[in-house]
Parts: sequence; C-alpha cells; structure tokens
Amino acid sequence: MQSKVGKCPKCGKAVVDRGSFYGCAGFVKGCDFSIGKSSLSHLGHPTITPKEMRALLKGSVQLSFKISSGIERLFWVELVQKASKFLPQVDFTAGIAAESLGSCPVCGADIVEYPLSYGCSKWEEGCEFAIFKDSIKKFGGKMLTKKDAKELLKNGQIEVKIRGFDKKMKKVNLLLDSEFGCRMDFKNR
Ligand SMILES: [Zn+2]
Ligand SMILES: [Zn+2]
Repeated sequence: MQSKVGKCPKCGKAVVDRGSFYGCAGFVKGCDFSIGKSSLSHLGHPTITPKEMRALLKGSVQLSFKISSGIERLFWVELVQKASKFLPQVDFTAGIAAESLGSCPVCGADIVEYPLSYGCSKWEEGCEFAIFKDSIKKFGGKMLTKKDAKELLKNGQIEVKIRGFDKKMKKVNLLLDSEFGCRMDFKNR
C-alpha cells in the first residue's frame, strides 16, 4: 500500500511514497511534483525517509549529512521552488561548525568548515575565499584536514605530501593563496 506523507505544494493533493521517490497522487491530472528519495545522497544524506519527507512538506526539517568519514552534522533542509520544480535545498550557510579555523586572508572574517572546503564565513557578502579539501588530491595527496587548514591560515604554509612524476611520495610546501585558497610551492623544495 502506498502511504501518504503529506500535501502536495503544487496542487494540494496527497504526496505518496512510491518506492524510490515521493510523488503527487494528482499526477494523472497533470501534477508533476516528485522528490527522489536519494536526491540528497550526493551531499551526504543517502535517503529521505517518509518521516523526514513529512516534515519537509510542512516547511523545513533538520537532516544529518555525512561530511567526512565518521563525522555527521545536522543541516536545515527546505523545499524551494525553482521555475515549476520543487527541490530540497540544504542550508550550508552556517558552515559545518561554528568554530573559527582562522582569519580570512581576504577580508579578515572567520574561516569555517563547509562540506567541500574551509571557507570564508562572509561568502554571502561576496567573499569567495576558500581552501578546497581536495586541493592536493589530484596530485596524489590527502584531503586537507581541519588541522591543516588551521595551520595554513596561521603560518601561511604547511608541508604536504604529493605523488611525484616518479610515483614516489614527496614533500612540498603548500602556500596560502588569497586568490586560489592555496597553491603548491614548486620553486622551494
Ligand atoms: Zn500535486
Ligand atoms: Zn573573507
């Protein structure tokens, strides 16, 4: 039996659980409202449960997101209308932790952790400074940790290991860069 999880924001009919997604019972009359259960999986929330969907249809819900191995945090999610489609939108503006990791080299505001980066808390006001966690991954390096970000912001550089052309791991300096977040120092090794 298909269970009802709430009221369709487009047409007011029932939204029902259809296995892999939640869809409007009024689809035969042309309502295309549907939300995939795995629509937030790429952000770290694998499945939207019926209980969570019920709350989402009422406005907003706090869901847990896996932000790195073993670490989960709660974020508010709400249904947002974009053109004729409704999509669940996650509010990452508060950052992952309220903890400041240092000062932004561009504007001086706090740097906080976001799902993919350590970035400026004033990004809504236009500051785009961010150190991406995977900055050195394409060079065979590890994901940058919170500790790395703190040290980088404090000292302007850290030592990291990347894979060289000879496939061996080698140490290089990673420098703080106000435009790119960070960059490798190939001159000085
Ligand atoms: Zn509908
Ligand atoms: Zn800033």
